[in-house]
Amino acid sequence: MLWRLRGIPSVLLPDSHRCCRWTALRARNTATSADPHLVAVVGGGAAGVFAAIRAKQVAGDRCRVMVFEAGPEMLPKVRISGGGRCNAQQDPQKTISDIAKGYPRGSRELLGPLHRFSPADTHQWFTDRGVSLKTEADGRVFPTTDKSETIISCLLSAARQQKVELYTKHKVTNMERSEEDGQWSIAVKRSSSSDLQVAPSSLLVACGSSRPLWSVVEGLGHHVIPPVPSLFTLRLAKDDAETSLLEQCAGISMQSVRMRLDVVSHREGGGRRGKSGGGSVKLVDEGPMLITQGPGLSGPVTLRLSAFAARHLHESAYECAVTINWTGGAFKSGDQVLPQLMVAKDELTMKALGTFCPLQNVPIPRRLWRVLLEVSDIPPTMRWADVSKAKLRGLAERLVAHRMRVVGKGAFKEEFTTSGGIRCRDINWKTMESKILPNLYFAGEFVDVDGITGGYNLQSAWTTGWIAGEAIGRTALMHSSDDRQ
Ligand SMILES: Cc1cc2nc3c(=O)[nH]c(=O)nc-3n(C[C@H](O)[C@H](O)[C@H](O)COP(=O)(O)OP(=O)(O)OC[C@H]3O[C@@H](n4cnc5c(N)ncnc54)[C@H](O)[C@@H]3O)c2cc1C
Repeated sequence: MLWRLRGIPSVLLPDSHRCCRWTALRARNTATSADPHLVAVVGGGAAGVFAAIRAKQVAGDRCRVMVFEAGPEMLPKVRISGGGRCNAQQDPQKTISDIAKGYPRGSRELLGPLHRFSPADTHQWFTDRGVSLKTEADGRVFPTTDKSETIISCLLSAARQQKVELYTKHKVTNMERSEEDGQWSIAVKRSSSSDLQVAPSSLLVACGSSRPLWSVVEGLGHHVIPPVPSLFTLRLAKDDAETSLLEQCAGISMQSVRMRLDVVSHREGGGRRGKSGGGSVKLVDEGPMLITQGPGLSGPVTLRLSAFAARHLHESAYECAVTINWTGGAFKSGDQVLPQLMVAKDELTMKALGTFCPLQNVPIPRRLWRVLLEVSDIPPTMRWADVSKAKLRGLAERLVAHRMRVVGKGAFKEEFTTSGGIRCRDINWKTMESKILPNLYFAGEFVDVDGITGGYNLQSAWTTGWIAGEAIGRTALMHSSDDRQ
């Protein structure tokens, strides 16, 4: 049931008092036609709070913005982001097209929005409000305090300054639109008091990865891409001769390796046709990598590939083959490596193979080098003079293409996101308004956009939130000038 009468822009009704309050609001509305445009924001995360601030900046007193957050505090995910340091964005010096490449889903759609509210704008926004930011060598941007609290305080103080109304422990349980007059109505559950029914003129849904609200929005005619995890580490087979020894290398961080994932979808019709066709995909990337306990693989290159392969990996139940070129881009084939090993055999004759890796410009740590020798069936104590060419050929091949079995995914504690959400083509990217229903907007992770690790996810929350807020603010201004005519 909808609690709204035509022309009443602002309604907030406690459930138990609907009828008597209703009458009062109707009387008041007749008296003042210039009530502020009521905006309800579902979700007090990065996207919702940022949008609310922008809407008030644009429309000022002409709009009233209420942010409903289900949890006990605003911006809970910002607090835990970046391991508590909050990697708030990516390098503001990068070009927009380079930034857009950091989104496995949504890179095309985000191009226009990122031009309107870019990482440089984000940087400016926070520095204008007294937050000092630093860009690290890998492009990640953090507050110089290394505390997410700095970002949270800045956002909450900007929200207070703009008179945004923030409500915690207010969970939105339903959203409806009257077929008769198009009025939106949302049901809000409060833990401490009676429930609310709110009838906003503009409704922004920015509640992150919320399955219940995805279902509600799906019921309103939108298409929701099923959510699957993104940004995770890879777990290697323990019982495999190729990988079991890698456990000894936990903690080793490689500056640059080349990693390839070969994923074959187990599910009928699943997976995009990759180079090898038939629901399989090959993804290759290069960068820093970390060997973890388990054994497992983590670090930027692993996380990036996990994001780009998120859907395929989900469809393969997180089983796939991973091939690592331990030399990074230095050598492409075993044939290129072998001559250097043969030189070492000639020159290091009496030295044990396990002493060090003789390849030039390939910094393979000793611990890893010894494991690679062992899996190539060469005892690290063997002297170079005694090793056969056939064994060295096997080692050379393994150095450039070490194939291992991935049997699952692990958690990456510093960042996590979900791939999936409202289908991109259901949204007008100039305003973040739904193309299906008017006065309904989406922002942040609720949309089928997600980025690789490094500040891309918060950047898309700031950008889409800002654009939605801007559009809502302008709508409020337009309505209020209509009312005044
Ligand atoms: C551990 C972790 C670390 C991360 N670190 C980083 C990082 O360093 N850099 C980066 O760029 N990204 C990081 N991310 C990702 C980033 O935090 C998210 O992409 C971003 O917070 C999304 O913002 P959002 O506003 O769309 O959603 P959210 O931040 O999820 O906010 C949505 C809010 O809506 C609320 N909500 C849900 N349902 C309802 C409802 N029915 N009614 C009312 N409220 C509701 C939720 O409680 C939540 O507070 C991290 C994520 C995690 C989990």
